Amino acid sequence: MTRRAPESMSIALPTGRAIDAAIRPDDPGESAEVTLIEPIRPRVFESCPICGDPATSKEHIPPDRIGGKVMTRTCLPCNNRLGSNVETDLLDWVEGALSRPSLRSAAVQGPRREKRVLVRNTPEGEFVLVIDGRAHPDLKAMLESGEVDLDAVLPNWGRCCLALLKHAYLAACLTHGVLEGDVADEVRRDLIAARDAENKQSVPTSQLALGLTILRTYEPTTDEPAIRAVLHDPAGPVEGVLLAGRIFVSWSSVIPKDVPEAHGRLNRTLRVRAPVRGTVTSVES
Ligand SMILES: [Zn+2]
Repeated sequence: MTRRAPESMSIALPTGRAIDAAIRPDDPGESAEVTLIEPIRPRVFESCPICGDPATSKEHIPPDRIGGKVMTRTCLPCNNRLGSNVETDLLDWVEGALSRPSLRSAAVQGPRREKRVLVRNTPEGEFVLVIDGRAHPDLKAMLESGEVDLDAVLPNWGRCCLALLKHAYLAACLTHGVLEGDVADEVRRDLIAARDAENKQSVPTSQLALGLTILRTYEPTTDEPAIRAVLHDPAGPVEGVLLAGRIFVSWSSVIPKDVPEAHGRLNRTLRVRAPVRGTVTSVES
């Protein structure tokens, strides 16, 4: 399993000040009530639930990096190729990361490139940028000069939604059997198109994925990788799945038929996703 980026950290500054930096929304946003129904159990199908080819590859739901477990099998391309086309953006979103950062300052000629930058916030709402991995030795001189420009790539929301569509769809198949009907065909068509794209950049936009209701909490509620859940929306209950105890994804655009009415036992309040905002001032390696 690949290393997970730390969610929170205590950073001691040379000035003696200690910073408590964690993934927190910089805007608390609205809250929503979600009732957890029951954990979704692993289930193996003969054929890949996405494309119908022989299911030969162990599939984590959600991806193991964000707390998933082996829950079913898919074919190798639907596991790995679809994963590498859309799941990096999901990981970056969940881990609060910006990719391909390039830093410049007058102190050093030319940009210095890093792999990723983690965005964390203090309880007071300041943001902290942390180089994921070993920082370039020149960064110290750049920071000491007082001004650093950062260019970096935000997670792509369309691909993030496609990754969540894949895992919400698979979780629905584990619960209800491989889904049938026009809507399920549409889900599979969009997932296969994303899988067969030559690279991340050419993954087609999926209106179906963008139409999902996605909520996120910053305090994981459970270790279960996938739990059937109901969102209490003002417009009515929305059936879905809570992935890794922190991301609710609706099933309304995944499941074609009416699902049995849910009876909840646990109440949790989740906060809606807050967008990443801010500009760079400092980096502590
Ligand atoms: Zn497949």
